Amino acid sequence: MDQKELLVEVKNLKKHYKDSSRSLFKRNQSVVKAVDNVSFTIEEGETFGLVGESGSGKSTIGRSILRLTDITDGEILYKGKSVHQLSKQELREHRKSFQFVFQDPFSSLNPRIRIGDAIGEALLDHGLATKKEIREKVLEVLNLCGLAPYHIDRFPHEFSGGQRQRIGIARAIIMDPEFIVADEPVSGLDVSIQAQIINLFSDLQEKKQLTYLFISHDLSVVEHIATKVGVLYLGTLMELGSRDEIYENPLHPYTKSLLSAIPIPDPTVKRERIVLQGDVPNPANPPTGCKFHTRCPFAREKCKTIVPEFKEVEANHFVACHLV
Ligand code: ADP
Ligand code: MG
Repeated sequence: MDQKELLVEVKNLKKHYKDSSRSLFKRNQSVVKAVDNVSFTIEEGETFGLVGESGSGKSTIGRSILRLTDITDGEILYKGKSVHQLSKQELREHRKSFQFVFQDPFSSLNPRIRIGDAIGEALLDHGLATKKEIREKVLEVLNLCGLAPYHIDRFPHEFSGGQRQRIGIARAIIMDPEFIVADEPVSGLDVSIQAQIINLFSDLQEKKQLTYLFISHDLSVVEHIATKVGVLYLGTLMELGSRDEIYENPLHPYTKSLLSAIPIPDPTVKRERIVLQGDVPNPANPPTGCKFHTRCPFAREKCKTIVPEFKEVEANHFVACHLV
């Protein structure tokens, strides 16, 4: 395999929030460690699949990389430069190469603005092209994203869920980005539509040499697009490895449990079935030791008290588990 350039380096990232659920009458203000010492890298042209249950810190990591939120500690490098130390001018330049695709593009679309204007908006804001050039560019990205030229004059409510996500992707693509954070971009869509949108991401990646951070609560969603997968639990990475390692040789009980919930079409293939106990703990008061021990069917005594090291058990395959 040829050596690719590192695009994103997340180093010991921490993001703490004051607990918004705290009671008016409670004295001690608790802190939610939404992201708790997370490190990973994304190489140029790859798709990093970030998975974990709701509330595990996925969106916070995505937002931190794009500098849509401040970070508490650690560092994020983009092409070797610290994202959170860029000057205003540098940040403006950066914003063009970074784009975000959300779960629900409809909520970010003004119902009274035509799709063509919504897609071209950012180019106009950045003063990057004339109106005529923008129209041409809009038509080009509509086509790239599987939409028709006449859609340019339509309004958001005239589109289906899948088409709206194509519009969300078109708005990102028109900026000619290098790197896209796609945060649950297919959640809420029918399974057949999900597959079409994932295929669109793959096509665009090839055509435009894009790098993705692809976020999902569902491991089956990233299976066909990710080249590397990170599994997050309560703000901490439990396992990290190549796509093949994670799906064919999962080592962490949490990863195994997520995988065992995915139906396998081939009846001759058997997967160990692991059913998790209990609910996700309160992130403001996470379990001691291994954060996963309260739900782990294999937990031993030391899992309750000692935080497992995130160790490289095979080349580029990291696991935080005492039992591995
Ligand atoms: P995910 O995207 O995996 O569902 P998030 O990154 O949205 O997780 O949230 C991680 C944790 O941080 C959750 O416990 C959430 O309640 C908390 N959190 C997220 N954003 C804020 C905020 N702006 N203020 C306070 N707590 C927040
Ligand atoms: Mg989220």
